[in-house]
Amino acid sequence: MFFDHPDFDSHEQVLFCHDPSVGLHGIIALHSTALGPAAGGCRMHPYSSVDDALTDVLRLSKGMTYKNAVAGLPLGGGKSVIIADPEDPRKPELLRAFSKHIQSLNGRYWTAIDIGVGPADADILAENCDFIFARASQYEPGFNPSEFTALGGFVGIKAGAEVAFQRQDLQGLRVAVQGLGATGYALCKHLHNAGAELTVTDVKDASISRVVSEFGAKAVQPDQIHAADVDVFAPCALGAGLNDQTIPEIKARLICGLANNQLASDHHGAMLTDAGIVYVPDYVVNAGGVMGASTVIFSETSREASVERIEGLQTTIKEILSRAKTEGRPSSKIANEMAAELICA
Ligand code: NAD
Repeated sequence: MFFDHPDFDSHEQVLFCHDPSVGLHGIIALHSTALGPAAGGCRMHPYSSVDDALTDVLRLSKGMTYKNAVAGLPLGGGKSVIIADPEDPRKPELLRAFSKHIQSLNGRYWTAIDIGVGPADADILAENCDFIFARASQYEPGFNPSEFTALGGFVGIKAGAEVAFQRQDLQGLRVAVQGLGATGYALCKHLHNAGAELTVTDVKDASISRVVSEFGAKAVQPDQIHAADVDVFAPCALGAGLNDQTIPEIKARLICGLANNQLASDHHGAMLTDAGIVYVPDYVVNAGGVMGASTVIFSETSREASVERIEGLQTTIKEILSRAKTEGRPSSKIANEMAAELICA
């Protein structure tokens, strides 16, 4: 039964969205509206089954509740998925059809970009819907709101390096970046400008070549990046990359990246602690995107205010890591407890 789904976890509402006229199959999951309207991106992915899509949306949606709470935003958590290939020529029609379902929630859920749905797609969603943020048309041409997320990643690595290595600068710090898309590429740029040495990978050769030529990065195969001989590992691709197979092979002493749901399962947080690896919880560090882009929900669009808020992530991250160190407990657990307290307060 659906309510017994292992990832159901007290979701307030889950909608299955169908429109046979365009072949739309989508799911909207609202985990919590305790702190405000649920907010979280819309992902387009060719899931191999509805079960896979449901598991993904439920996990991502709960993650948004925790992310928005720890980021100090007056927002709840939700997420949506469209089961389709983002290269499908029907993409604009699928987005338009899906946005009508979001509109029907009348502001209980705001959505934005995620994997397979970019800022220009967010503008298409907004044609029929008032509850879309991170739209290309909100910014100057060429600005991608994922850059807010990347800034958060950079701030997180600086905070993590202070706790893990007692260092204030990133000069010569060796960082492995997995995934060179919107967030991974922009993170590499920040790190390169700060003097870090990059080891990188992606499944797309062109993405690797760009970072190698622009930032002098060293490239490795996708299945080798977690084991690179570096100080920091930054997962910026898909989730579940920290698992039973990869953790024993990780040489980095700090993990801080932007991918969602990096821990394959909760116990991998404890495995990282036992291995002496400092882990910056994924949803804490990748909150920069929603912190920067969601301001439109509150009719406040100052870029400076967004950047200032994202830089404030440093304080939260240091608090979580310091508590994890003192208490000898997983940082992921401490972040979850902080989020739960805020939601119940
Ligand atoms: P993206 O699609 O732009 O980039 C992902 C990159 O990872 C692509 O270049 C892809 O080729 C690469 N990739 C896929 N599988 C890989 C593998 N096995 N090994 C190496 N590279 C691989 O996505 P993005 O917007 O950069 O998001 C990356 C992650 O960050 C996702 O988990 C996303 O949910 C999360 N995130 C993104 C944002 C945002 O603002 N974009 C905000 C919060 C969280």
